[in-house]
Amino acid sequence: SLHDALPISKKQAKELVVMHELGRMMNSENSSLKEISDKVAFIIARHLGLKSFCIFILNEETSQLEIKSSVGLPKGIERKVIVNLGEGITGKVAKTGNPMLIDDVKKDERFTYFGGLCKDIRSYLSVPMTVDKKVVGVISATENVPGYFTVPDMNLLMDVASHLSVSMQNIKYVDKLRSMSSMDGLTGLCNHRFFYHRLKQEIASAGRYRDKLSVVMMDIDFFKKVNNTYGHKAGDRILIGVASILQNACRESDLVARYGGEEFGIVLPRADFEGVLRKAESIRSAIEGEVFQQGLESVRITVSIGIAHFPRDGFSSKDIIGKADKALYSAKDSGRNKVVDIASI
Ligand code: GH3
Ligand code: MG
Ligand code: MG
Repeated sequence: SLHDALPISKKQAKELVVMHELGRMMNSENSSLKEISDKVAFIIARHLGLKSFCIFILNEETSQLEIKSSVGLPKGIERKVIVNLGEGITGKVAKTGNPMLIDDVKKDERFTYFGGLCKDIRSYLSVPMTVDKKVVGVISATENVPGYFTVPDMNLLMDVASHLSVSMQNIKYVDKLRSMSSMDGLTGLCNHRFFYHRLKQEIASAGRYRDKLSVVMMDIDFFKKVNNTYGHKAGDRILIGVASILQNACRESDLVARYGGEEFGIVLPRADFEGVLRKAESIRSAIEGEVFQQGLESVRITVSIGIAHFPRDGFSSKDIIGKADKALYSAKDSGRNKVVDIASI
């Protein structure tokens, strides 16, 4: 088994390394579910030592599992294998949300050998990826000898899968957002409603995994004056510019929203307090430094920003947004063009 040679402390160390790598991966720019999935596969291969496995993602529209990434399985398997919910071992894992550890697939007639493409498989370990108790995908590992995987192997893979699933789901949502009405028409960011909806889900999941989460609220300073001076159309173009500065400053797993007219909100899952403060400060200074060219006019603006954290400053989405708002108003009151963390007032 993977674990035979590893004492307990080493297993835990391995898990930490994986979590760390995942954190780093989420920090880098990732543009699609496929890219994330490939990176996840790379990390699993390197740190868990799995030689042969694949990542299935549930397509909600078709209720089918599609292989997004694979390692050590026949080339092109991604395009050849599609599993219906409930079908075979993988489909059952996705349907029930329970992992399955098969010592010898020869003795289990439910196993389909990836549609007959991998006839040498003997050991099979399949664990669900879930978000809010809903299965979003499955990770399956295979070996060509019987009795290879153990219960500790299964638990380790489950832990990794549960961390992955939240990030995966975020990316999936961002993908989906592009084609849904939860998008703000002017800036292409998600709108107030979606922001609220996602924040609730993120808080639920952060609570479950004892993760931190941050909310950043931002309001453009003296925007009425900008409209009055340069016109409403120019104001609109500046809002689009601000939206793109925000998106460039954030990871794909962060949620950037147009919260109101010239107010923006960001949800940052799993971010540390210092990091969020630094990011908010860099956003503030990037906007201060930007020249929004409107015809012959060089327009400059500033923003005020408020920050609050879950669970430090509250437990519900309302509480956290309320606190971030309060911090924002304190930034306004104390002169604008500032970042204020609610803990500092
Ligand atoms: P401050 O926030 O610094 O207190 O001053 P402000 O002038 O920005 O005040 P407030 O936030 O109350 O006003 C927001 C203004 O933003 C009102 C409105 O003219 C403008 N605004 C809101 N939505 C839009 C929009 O979609 N396009 C444009 N061009 N302007 C908008
Ligand atoms: Mg406002
Ligand atoms: Mg304003």
